[in-house]
Amino acid sequence: MKALTDPAAIIEITASAAVHTSTHGWRAKCLQRLIRMDLPVPPSFALSAEAVRAIAAGHMPDRARLAAIIERADGLVSVRPSARDPAWGGPRTVLNVGINRDRHARLAQTRGKSAADALYQGFVQSYAVHVARLDPDMFSDGDIGLDATLRAYEDETDEEFPQDPTRQLAEVLRSMARAWDGPTARLLRQAKGAPAIAPLGLVVQDMALAIGPGVTGSGTIQFIDSVTGTPRITGRFRGQTQGTAKGEGAETLYLTRDPRGPSLEEAAPEVFADLVRFGVAARERLREEMQIEFVVSDGSLSIIDAVRTQRSSRASVRTAVALVRDGIIPPQEALMRVEPRALSDLLHHQVDPRAPRDVITHGINASPGAATGRIVFSAAAAQDAEARGERCVLVRRETVPEDIRGMHASVAVLTERGGMTSHAAVIARGIGLPCIVGAGGIQIDARRRLLQAGNRQFREGEVITIDGTSGEVLAGAAEMLEPALDGSFSQLLEWADAECRIKVRANADTPEDARTARTFNAQGIGLCRTEHMFFDDERLPAMREMIFASRPEDRSLSLQRLLPMQRGDFTKLFEIMAGLPVTIRLFDPPLHEFLPHDREGMRELAESLDLPLSDVTRRVQALSEFNPMLGMRGVRLGITVPEIYDMQARAIFEATIEASHNGDPVVPEIMIPLVSARREVELVKTRIDAVAAAVRNETRKDFTYRLGVMVETPRAALRAGDIAEHTAFLSFGTNDLTQMTYGLSRDDAGRFMATYVSQGVYSEDPFHILDQEGVGELVAIGAERARRRKPGITISVCGEHGGNPESIAFCLRAGVNYVSCSPFRVPVARLAAAQESI
Ligand code: PEP
Ligand code: MG
Repeated sequence: MKALTDPAAIIEITASAAVHTSTHGWRAKCLQRLIRMDLPVPPSFALSAEAVRAIAAGHMPDRARLAAIIERADGLVSVRPSARDPAWGGPRTVLNVGINRDRHARLAQTRGKSAADALYQGFVQSYAVHVARLDPDMFSDGDIGLDATLRAYEDETDEEFPQDPTRQLAEVLRSMARAWDGPTARLLRQAKGAPAIAPLGLVVQDMALAIGPGVTGSGTIQFIDSVTGTPRITGRFRGQTQGTAKGEGAETLYLTRDPRGPSLEEAAPEVFADLVRFGVAARERLREEMQIEFVVSDGSLSIIDAVRTQRSSRASVRTAVALVRDGIIPPQEALMRVEPRALSDLLHHQVDPRAPRDVITHGINASPGAATGRIVFSAAAAQDAEARGERCVLVRRETVPEDIRGMHASVAVLTERGGMTSHAAVIARGIGLPCIVGAGGIQIDARRRLLQAGNRQFREGEVITIDGTSGEVLAGAAEMLEPALDGSFSQLLEWADAECRIKVRANADTPEDARTARTFNAQGIGLCRTEHMFFDDERLPAMREMIFASRPEDRSLSLQRLLPMQRGDFTKLFEIMAGLPVTIRLFDPPLHEFLPHDREGMRELAESLDLPLSDVTRRVQALSEFNPMLGMRGVRLGITVPEIYDMQARAIFEATIEASHNGDPVVPEIMIPLVSARREVELVKTRIDAVAAAVRNETRKDFTYRLGVMVETPRAALRAGDIAEHTAFLSFGTNDLTQMTYGLSRDDAGRFMATYVSQGVYSEDPFHILDQEGVGELVAIGAERARRRKPGITISVCGEHGGNPESIAFCLRAGVNYVSCSPFRVPVARLAAAQESI
């Protein structure tokens, strides 16, 4: 077969050899770089991916070529996988290939009998398991010794253990090539992003022996702390140990001086100094923090491999920034090296990855971060706990707007139902609360105040930990890492902003959200959901009064009470945002969401409104709808009960005048939700213009405003051209647009989403990652039609997808001017936007 006769099939890795990651894999290339740095790398050979494929298909390289490699070593070699991307993994490394009776005898003379025995036995075992495919249990019962190991091999295979080093090497190569082709290995690497046909090279390297006289052993060294990223030497040196083979006197040493025990630094100071020197050089030449694998053989050092140091999210940010500061990589490269999602780990507490985890159940990781608290089953209990100064976790089947106060009083939220855009998820992300939704494995008995997870029960008051990053619920208090909003974090984002070709705003409903948005350098507010402003103890009664008003005069009185509260809210938002754009969405949800949902609540309401209970119950029933998400909400409410939007518009304009006092004039952006027809926009616009004129008249102050429409029904996307005529901006509400395009309830889809994704019906949860083919097409059509009619129109996306890296890439391609997402997702969005712009 040509692949194997080609001289490039197996080449010695030298400084000038034609070794490429694409043909020989990352390990071969990395070894070449180490060789070019003059590090003491043992002679190494690279088999190309094409050669490995030929071997897997049953062809073998020329025996003479293999013999030349293994005889030349007059000792032993290792065989290691070298995939194109280290993340794809590969078959297990096999050490000490080539050992047989003769070489064992020679080794016994030079290194001592026990060292020779350990090396031979180690190889027989791995050959038996990985090549002859014998049961590993045969060898796992303690140390059975070399003779017994050989006997076990021979009994099982009915043949002598292969004594020909060339045959041994050929068989090891074949078994590794085939293992890579197996279905399990294929699935595993595809899960890590490898293509269906992924190239694997192999590296054959002379063994540096780690068992023998003097200071001898193997180890790894790295130069940063994997969790924090701070410079620190860590690693291990295992004396008299080579893989699983252990010689006499095997012991583990610290690398640096340590009061707890002996160290390599003391045992072999020159070796240690060389390792540190090589580490510094590798960081500069390979432009990366590397973990170095080495062997010391009677005091002499060999570098056998180097891999990118494993690191946590916070360590990846710190390392990337440090490499720029040391002049090793440019800022653009640092930006590309950090996974955007990693940033959200830095904003919140995280469960320490080194700590034990007692997982009781899991669900959808709806809002990142981790928190520990006592279980409570109602918003009222959460508020009581907060009043007592206790940290609590709110556990509900699902949350409703009434629970917002309880959510604010909790440190985390867990719901049995729901998905990425259900109420609990959206609110929790907004306030930066760790949250898990759709935890189908739990049952909540709110009456008996009991949480059942499998066969475990938890009562109200018991402590659990919510890991909203992984979606796991843990029993008890887990050990935590503090947020890491340090200089590296801000520096990286500063570089990101310099690259971005798309702006990032925040969805912020309250002054507190707005402050968070500013902290994360959001470039404005892209969505203020005004209905969220009505859920505190003072406002809810006024809101309910307004809903219960049966005559327009009564309604107008209640609205008069709400007006100053809204004006105050908007003034604060304008002031905090200090001249950055603020988009205020007019009232959106169905009115009945503001009404109590149980008998107790109705009784309280009847009392506060001084009405008979039966009146309250009747009104609540009258307002309830079969399908409220498609019912009287958004602009439909605005047209049917126009006084609500009138009041909001007035509050916005009065706040505009107030906030313009001490600075540049504020230009508010008013957005109409759930539009599906151009006439809706005309009707609302006429009234808002009238309110603006009235306020100008009364105050004798001038101001302007920008009117926009949320595109969240498929019809609005298709008719975006018409709608654009009346508006300065369009903002795609991709949460509702996804719900309506699929006909998929935002609040109920969690029940079957996991099944749908696992069976490949949807490749991802479309509420989480924008469905580019369907919903995305509507966005693209809407943007194109709007721009055709009004070229200068501003286009944005303010659904939850605005904070999702993959969706941001799509938005950039679709020509969206800005995305808007929960304040805590702003940093992730800024980095993702920068990566797409580079
Ligand atoms: C949307 O529908 O995408 C949106 C942003 O509005 P809400 O989530 O409030 O319905
Ligand atoms: Mg919406």
